[in-house]
Amino acid sequence: MAALIKDVELTDKLPTKLFLGKHCDYISAYGKKKDDYEYCITEYLRLSGIYWGLTALDLMGQIDKLDKESVIDFIKNCQHKCGGFSSSIGHDPHILYTLSALQILTMYDALGVIDIEKTVSFIKSLQQEDGSFIGDKWGEVDTRFTFCCVASLALLNRLNEVNIDKAVEFVLSCMNFDGGFGCRPGSETHAGQIYCCLGILSITQQLHHVKADLLGWWLCERQLPSGGLNGRPEKLPDVCYSWWVLASLKIIGRIHWIDKDKLSRFILASQDEETGGFADRPGDMVDPFHTVFGLAGLSLLGDETIKEVNPVFCMSQDLIKKIGLKVQLLKM
Ligand SMILES: [Zn+2]
Repeated sequence: MAALIKDVELTDKLPTKLFLGKHCDYISAYGKKKDDYEYCITEYLRLSGIYWGLTALDLMGQIDKLDKESVIDFIKNCQHKCGGFSSSIGHDPHILYTLSALQILTMYDALGVIDIEKTVSFIKSLQQEDGSFIGDKWGEVDTRFTFCCVASLALLNRLNEVNIDKAVEFVLSCMNFDGGFGCRPGSETHAGQIYCCLGILSITQQLHHVKADLLGWWLCERQLPSGGLNGRPEKLPDVCYSWWVLASLKIIGRIHWIDKDKLSRFILASQDEETGGFADRPGDMVDPFHTVFGLAGLSLLGDETIKEVNPVFCMSQDLIKKIGLKVQLLKM
């Protein structure tokens, strides 16, 4: 008997075309609702939230819809004495928000407004003897944090400040028998972790270590009959995995292995026609996180009304080219 597949059903009532104007309104309004309950509960994500919103707007060619000066001011106030950034003023610094801060400032061509030396020294302080990285002073090790550190240093053009050989060695020690990666050696393969590890290997030009066919096969198996992708076997499909899985396939040159039309239909069905924005799956509440990854996923699928997205940095390809960042992508 076949195993029961968890999936959703796409009905005829769900959207099938892209509502770019609505998404633009949704994101620009989101930042203005300061008293809104939604806005308050997401304080611990504020800086990343701005990155998701701004990237979404940039991919739609509408980056000027957020107030640049107030965003830059907010980011400056989120930098701590140690050099790291917190999600919001008064919270603890973490590498996750440090990367978001650097991505936003890169989009605004404003890296010069922060203390770059301190930022570099914060990132350096996170590397461990075995090459791994912790995310903050609490000391949890995770390949996600390695990605954030490496991507941050790449944006600052300071990759040589940490031991890259050791960092790569650690990442490779997290590779599993299925070709995928986990958060630490021996941890289960997960699509989010695969994306991070491929990102590190792409930035450091070390993708030749990847078992691309084996990994491509595991990634393609994430596609469900609805067309949506999940992050691990037996999980429901989710629009954000359109990004983690699809970007991973793009990096290893195997994006044509999935059914693009079906995935595109699933992502479009996850839009809210009334309010704008994308949800994790059709019928759920929309949020900025799934909105940016829905748009970025459609961009990877070739939608030409959205700017081309860079599969490693999740920022517009034009910008990554303009600042001279080179990522490695495998060819089939
Ligand atoms: Zn999700």
